[in-house]
Amino acid sequence: MEKVDILSAKRHTLAHLLAAAVGEIYKFDKVKLTLGPAIDNGFYYDIDFGDEKVADSDLKKIEDRMYKILPKWTEWQHKEINKEEALTFFKNEYKAELINEIANRGEKITTYTCGGFTDLCRGGHTEHPASEISPDSFKLDRVAGAYWRGDEKNKMLTRIYGLAFENKEELDAYILQQEEARKRDHRKLGKELGLFTFSDYVGSGLPLYTPRGALVRRLLNDYVESLQSEEGYMQVWTPQIAKASLFKQSGHYDKYKEDMFRVVSNYSDEEFYLKPMNCPQHTQIYASEKRSYRDLPIRMTDFAMLYRDEQPGQLNGLARVRSFSQDDCHIFCTEEQVDEEIDRALAMIKKVMQTFGFKYKYRLSTRDPEHPEKYLGDPATWDKAEKWAEKIMKRNNIEYFEGVGEASFYAPKMDLIATDALGREWQLSTVQIDYVQPERFDLEYTDKDGSRKHPVMIHRAIIGSSERMLMILLESYAGNFPLWLSPVQVKVIPVRENHNEYAKEIFTLLKENNIRVELDDADSNLGGKVRDAKNNKIPYWIVIGDKEVEAGKVTLESRDSGNLGQISKEELISKFLEEIKTKK
Ligand SMILES: [Zn+2]
Ligand SMILES: [Zn+2]
Repeated sequence: MEKVDILSAKRHTLAHLLAAAVGEIYKFDKVKLTLGPAIDNGFYYDIDFGDEKVADSDLKKIEDRMYKILPKWTEWQHKEINKEEALTFFKNEYKAELINEIANRGEKITTYTCGGFTDLCRGGHTEHPASEISPDSFKLDRVAGAYWRGDEKNKMLTRIYGLAFENKEELDAYILQQEEARKRDHRKLGKELGLFTFSDYVGSGLPLYTPRGALVRRLLNDYVESLQSEEGYMQVWTPQIAKASLFKQSGHYDKYKEDMFRVVSNYSDEEFYLKPMNCPQHTQIYASEKRSYRDLPIRMTDFAMLYRDEQPGQLNGLARVRSFSQDDCHIFCTEEQVDEEIDRALAMIKKVMQTFGFKYKYRLSTRDPEHPEKYLGDPATWDKAEKWAEKIMKRNNIEYFEGVGEASFYAPKMDLIATDALGREWQLSTVQIDYVQPERFDLEYTDKDGSRKHPVMIHRAIIGSSERMLMILLESYAGNFPLWLSPVQVKVIPVRENHNEYAKEIFTLLKENNIRVELDDADSNLGGKVRDAKNNKIPYWIVIGDKEVEAGKVTLESRDSGNLGQISKEELISKFLEEIKTKK
C-alpha cells in the first residue's frame, strides 16, 4: 500500500474502534451506529445517541476506552452475509437503509469483526491494529451535529471527530498548526486591525472595507497591476451586469447559471445577470474591431467586481464571499504566440509567489473522462490543449500533479497550489488555454496569408480573488503585514509636549517621501502610545525625546526586530524606501 493508503486504512480502522468504544460505554440497545468514514485529518462516526446528550466533555472517557481496547484488536474476521442475515444482525434503521441499498446495487454485503466488534463494511483496514497503530498517534477531537445523509429533513445525529496521523509528532504538529490558525483567524484579525466589516443590512458574503482595508486591497491589486503593465497588459473596464444572451453564447448560462445572481429590470423582461467572471465581456472588446495578426497578442486586464451566488452556509469571512474582484486577464493571440505568452505569465506568477514567500506546485487540471457532457468544444482540440499545457510545464521545469476532472468547462488549466506559513494549501494562480470561447463568439483575425482565423484565448490570474488573497495574507502574516503592505507604516511618538515640534518635522519629512505615517502627539503616556502601535501591528515607531532633539536624529524601533538605535534622518528615509521597494 502507498503511504497515504496506509494512513487512510488506519483512519478507517479507528472509526471502527471509536464505534466499538461507544458501544461498550453506551450500549447498542440505546445508541445506533450509522456511518463512519476516514477523512483528511482523521475520521468520524455519526451516531444516534437517542435521549443521551454527548458533548466534548464526554470525549475523554470514549478516547480512554479506545486506548484500552486497542491491544485486543489483533486481527480481522471478514464475512459475507445475505440481506436477511444482515438485517437481523444490524437492528437499526440506518444500517437497514444501507443494507437495502447495497443489496439493490447487487453488491456483496460484508461484515468485518475485530476485538469482538462487528460492523457493516467493505474493508480497507490496518491488518493488525494492536501492533500497527500507536495510541499516541490519534485522539478524539470534537463533537458536532450532522443530519443523517446530510439532509436537514432527517434526524440530527451526533458526529464524533477524531484526529489520526502517522505518528505522535505529526499529530502534535497538526494540533499546534490548528491552534495557531485559530489565533490567526482573518475574521478576528480583520476586526482587531479595523480592515473590513460585514453588515446585516448589506447582506452576508458582501464585505465592506474600511479605509485601512481598502488601502491594503488596493496595494495588492496595484502591485499585480504594475507587473502586468510592464508586461504589456492593458486595463479595460466592463460593467457588472450583462444580458443573459452573453452568458448563453459563452456557455456560462448552461454550465454555470446556478452560481450566478439574476438581476431584474423594471423596464424590460430581458434576463440580466451579475457577471461571475470577465471572460465573456472581454471577448466583446476584442470583437469590437477588425483584428490583424499584427495586433496580436492583445492582453486585457480588468479588476471589476464579480458576483457569485454562494450557498449561505458556505460563506466564511473573506475566504468565501459573494462579491469579489480578480486579477483576471485574457490574452488573445495566435497559436505561435501561446508558448511565449504562457512562459511570461508563469514567470510573473513565480515573481509574485516569491514576494509573498509561498512555496507552491501546479496542478494540471484536465477533463473528467466519465463526464464528457460537462465540457464544451471538440474533444480533439481538448486533447491538444491538455497535452500542450503539460509540455509547457515540463519545459518550465515546473513541479506538477494531475487533477483529472478539475478543468473548467471551456479549457484545461494550470492551477497553482500555494502553501502558506501554516502549511495550508490554497489554489491561487491559474493559466488556461482556451479554444472554445473564441470559436463560440466567432472571434477572428486576419493572418499573414489573408486567411481569417480564430485567436487562442489564454485566461490568466495571479493572486486570483483580492478578497481571498487578503484573507490568506492576513493569516499567513498573522496580521504583521510587511512594510509595503501596511496601512500605517510608521508612527512618530513625542515623549513630552516640548518634543512635539521636532516630531512634527520628522512626520512631515516622512510624509513628503510618501511614507504612510501617523503622528501620535496626544497628551497621554508613552507606554500607552507604544502599546497602541504594537496592537495595531505597525512595522515601525519612532520615539522622540530630549536625546533625539539634541542629536537631530531619530531612534527607530521595529515590530519584528526591536530597538534599532539612533539613526540620521537620511538613513531613516533611505531604509524605508529600500524596504518598500524590495517588498521584504
Ligand atoms: Zn471498515
Ligand atoms: Zn477568463
